[in-house]
Amino acid sequence: MSSIELKNIVKKYGDGFPAVNDVSLDIADGEFMILVGPSGCGKSTLLRMVVGLEDITSGDLLINGKRVNDLAPRDRNLSMVFQNYALYPHLTVGENIAFPLRLAKGQHSEEEIKSKVQAAADMLELNEHLERKPANLSGGQRQRVAMGRAIVRDADAFLFDEPLSNLDAKLRGQMRTEIARMQRRLGITTIYVTHDQTEAMTLGDRVAVLKKGVLQQCASPRELYEQPINLFVAGFIGSPPMNFLPARVDGDTLHLPFVDVLMDGDLAAKVKGKDLVIVGLRPEHIKDASLGDKIDGVTFTPNVDQTEWLGNEQYAYIPFEADSAVRDKLEELDRDLDGEGMRTQMIVNLDSRSRVLEGDDAELIFDPSLMHVFDPESGDNLT
Ligand code: ATP
Repeated sequence: MSSIELKNIVKKYGDGFPAVNDVSLDIADGEFMILVGPSGCGKSTLLRMVVGLEDITSGDLLINGKRVNDLAPRDRNLSMVFQNYALYPHLTVGENIAFPLRLAKGQHSEEEIKSKVQAAADMLELNEHLERKPANLSGGQRQRVAMGRAIVRDADAFLFDEPLSNLDAKLRGQMRTEIARMQRRLGITTIYVTHDQTEAMTLGDRVAVLKKGVLQQCASPRELYEQPINLFVAGFIGSPPMNFLPARVDGDTLHLPFVDVLMDGDLAAKVKGKDLVIVGLRPEHIKDASLGDKIDGVTFTPNVDQTEWLGNEQYAYIPFEADSAVRDKLEELDRDLDGEGMRTQMIVNLDSRSRVLEGDDAELIFDPSLMHVFDPESGDNLT
């Protein structure tokens, strides 16, 4: 059994702004936990504190219920896989995998080392390469050797720091499924740092989203997608990202850039007292009404500025006006998300069957129950 608990963890480098600010997380035995967020949000710092490569400024780190803040990295029994693999170039694949076992001098017999290396090589399909040196391997094979070295150790947990970021997209996809399979097979507690939301959504039992050192939400991938707690999480999870539209509140009606939506009593009560809100609508929840699919919802007919056809799907881009109060908020959000300043156009993920062209007035439809409504000041999701 190996659980990892973070209680009010703070990290300050020098006397600057905390890189990690009061983060608490309980990672259950066997759980696959993802730490995700834009560059500089503190995810690597958090991981490095867990493994012991970085001191904890305040708060408690518990492994299996025992406080380990002051325990040396080698005594924490955690296996870390780094972005750059950190393989020994002069050792063969087999020797690299065996290295942690040899480091624990006298604890493992030659026979045991051989059989553990063999088992890891079998699992990672490295048998043919055991005698080769890392320089003669592909990026994906090197990554497997790094994982082999992590799994021979019978560690309490695996810690991964962006392990796939040096691989090309295709290999990244393959390695992702391999990591998922290996983790399930071994059932070992895992913390995995990434800024890639596909990895986050497909690998994690739960995903912890960080912004500027502060934990925003920790939930299952589905919950993050369906019930993001605030604008930041809503904008971070989902590709292409959620549309954020300014909406004026007028009694039971929301005036969006292209359409008015009548709110149900529940939503009207939540936005009561506000003049302005930000409505979040995912690109895939807006449909081409002319395709004749049965959808209940609100229709509108905006002019399409640009389209992109990708074969299996198609995007339409529709600019809109945002008044200055909302624009400032959206620009701030864009900066937080390391975005590209695309927040004043709506993106619609049309189906590949759609025949909407640039310059067309497209007949679009969405189900208002799929809208998220955010407070424009705090960014909190009110729905
Ligand atoms: P990335 O995805 O770019 O690796 P990250 O989310 O892993 O980013 P960290 O590397 O943990 O973020 O950095 C968090 C913050 O702490 C950043 O503002 C960074 O500049 C700062 N920081 C990290 N390491 C140090 C250090 N050794 N000394 C001072 N500041 C540091």
